Amino acid sequence: MNILDTIRIEAEQLYPQLVAWRRDFHRHPEMGFEETRTAGIVAAHLHYLGLEVSTGVGKTGVVALVEGEAIPEDAPTVLLRFDMDALPIHEENDVEYRSQNPGVMHACGHDGHTAIGMGVAQILARHRSALRGRVKLVFQPAEEGAGGALAMINDGVLRDPIPSASFGLHLWSGLPLNQVIVQPGPLWAAADMFRLTVRGKAGHGAMPHETVDATLVASHILVAWQSIVARNVNPQDTAVISVGSMQSGNAYNVISDRADLLGTIRSFSTEVQSLLLRRLEDLATSIAAGFGATARFEFLGGCPVTVSSEEGAALMDRVAEQIVGRQQIAQIRPMMVGEDMAEFLKRAPGCFILVGASDMAVKQHSPHHNPTFDFDERMLPTGVALLAGAAFRYLQER
Ligand SMILES: [Zn+2]
Ligand SMILES: [Zn+2]
Repeated sequence: MNILDTIRIEAEQLYPQLVAWRRDFHRHPEMGFEETRTAGIVAAHLHYLGLEVSTGVGKTGVVALVEGEAIPEDAPTVLLRFDMDALPIHEENDVEYRSQNPGVMHACGHDGHTAIGMGVAQILARHRSALRGRVKLVFQPAEEGAGGALAMINDGVLRDPIPSASFGLHLWSGLPLNQVIVQPGPLWAAADMFRLTVRGKAGHGAMPHETVDATLVASHILVAWQSIVARNVNPQDTAVISVGSMQSGNAYNVISDRADLLGTIRSFSTEVQSLLLRRLEDLATSIAAGFGATARFEFLGGCPVTVSSEEGAALMDRVAEQIVGRQQIAQIRPMMVGEDMAEFLKRAPGCFILVGASDMAVKQHSPHHNPTFDFDERMLPTGVALLAGAAFRYLQER
């Protein structure tokens, strides 16, 4: 039998185990860089499979190497990545496996990704004799904005051996069950964070002429920023500027001398990204100066565009055809959400896919990062088969 057919069948057989793992992680969600319980369970499973395991990579990350039997020294290495962190959201689902950690919830499906990674490890370990190289399994902490991918890269996850390709997935509740999104080029956007601090002069609410009102200055800046996408970005390009937090003052009758704004920009190219940053800073400092205030703009970084290579997407497409069938493969318009798998893809080009996780006929799906988020667990074996299959095929074709 073809190795992909074998993998597909074995992944289906793992279903009860995948659900048990996923629900356990769901009950015990952990925030980024605090995934000690999760990492412990992952590491114990990888040890049990007889793999070489490193823990504490990028603080709470876990890495294992699956080596093919009797492979040459220069055999290729492929990286598979699974994220493990949860979000600061209080779960509203009334399910048997609901979060037991108040205020923390797996509301993005990373519990499913971690379970998929454990399933992939099990299948790859079982078929080492058919593996034509090495597979580096990367269980990453802190995907949700805290820089877990870079932390692991800085800790050497891409060295010894160096992977020549990387693959990863995100389960997606907005897509029909087991539909697979595979496409070359950008799928998700570069997502960056910025902060602005406006400084004025405090004073009595009744004597504004003796103050420089930081709240008012920040408000003008906020409104002016919304002209950047409309009037500076080429209409053929895509960009987002969103300010999610504006903090100023403590009392109703005191004019504040300080306002703090936190926001995000999204883009698909470095040209647009630098245009946005330049215009944000220029407008802020010149508007503040016009009011006699000062403004300090800080770029807090983020993650690059999530791009799949032509070859990576072509390989993934062939694998998906055998796992789910041609009719279940689709393409979508790129989305403005960010994903730090981009850091791995930038250094080891490959493919990032989405796997549909909602039975559209059964119930209305709840979006990611929502207190009622949940997904259809029947996508778990599909995720396992797709990534294990991609690793096998990549090493075969190299
Ligand atoms: Zn998320
Ligand atoms: Zn996510």
